[in-house]
Amino acid sequence: MNGYPFNRRRATAAHLPLGERRDARFYGKHILSVSQFTRTDLEYIFAVADEMRIMVERVGTFDLLKGKILANLFYEPSTRTSSSFTAAMERLGGSVIPINEVRYSSVAKGESLPDTVRTLEAYSDVIVLRHPETGAAALAARYARKPIINAGDGTGEHPTQALLDLFTIREELGRLEGLTVTMLGDLKYGRTVHSLARLLALYGARINYVSPEILRMPREIVEELERQGIPQREYTMLDDVLAETDVLYVTRVQKERFEDLDEYEQVKDAYVITTETMKRAKPAMILMHPLPRVSEIALDVDLDPRAAYFRQVEYGLYVRMALLAMVLGKA
Ligand code: ASP
Repeated sequence: MNGYPFNRRRATAAHLPLGERRDARFYGKHILSVSQFTRTDLEYIFAVADEMRIMVERVGTFDLLKGKILANLFYEPSTRTSSSFTAAMERLGGSVIPINEVRYSSVAKGESLPDTVRTLEAYSDVIVLRHPETGAAALAARYARKPIINAGDGTGEHPTQALLDLFTIREELGRLEGLTVTMLGDLKYGRTVHSLARLLALYGARINYVSPEILRMPREIVEELERQGIPQREYTMLDDVLAETDVLYVTRVQKERFEDLDEYEQVKDAYVITTETMKRAKPAMILMHPLPRVSEIALDVDLDPRAAYFRQVEYGLYVRMALLAMVLGKA
């Protein structure tokens, strides 16, 4: 019963028209780690994302965030995260300051992250930050008066990706409970799986980790989920778990994180999903990937209806629209 009146109030808020809600839990808040979310929060985010989808399908662009400005600050390469935040803001009627190439900004002159953030917040209402160092978003948040959204901090977390991943699973399979999820590839450096495993724990998933020995899931995450009673098992062979898998989440081997490129060469092609692999998978399994794909999934697998990774990209737009509306007090 704990928290019931609060949940009820939130459920009611979700039924008000978009723009007339001000959800205290998200308004003006940073989004730094998935650890800040409860299941109630996730259900709320997904309900708003559902509405965003309907609105985009119906009218394309609308004025919910008219007059608001997003600073998109990327210290690392990005295609989807950066452009989906831009698209999200523009579909909501807002505008964007794009800093996709910090090389051409004052960062190249040696400006610190706190100074860059304190500058950008003078011009904007929310800052989306991608940075190569774990903890960079949390550091930025210490200095910022405007919401910071973590768009990937080194090998740490990628919370907005994990939210869209979970939304994808919900849309594709119609449920989040009782699933067996297999994460494959670079589980050590892949920040998306660090965030996703933590979110799946809220739904009691059974998680399989399949990776080369040197790219295993970090111990602190395995232990964190162990304390929550989540069944987790580690393998090096996909075939050991493929037949029982409901969601196969493939990751890219993160070349940019290796100190020794010879080591990268040894593991870069450790797993490749082919049409043969798909024959041994459940007919209702979904195949996900945060993208970019390098060689982990053969191109002809794209034709398999279970290949969900490009649909996953689209779901990302709705989830990021929902997040922007929420932190700016319009959802
Ligand atoms: N785009 C994802 C990320 O930024 C996955 C990847 O790069 O492999 O973490």
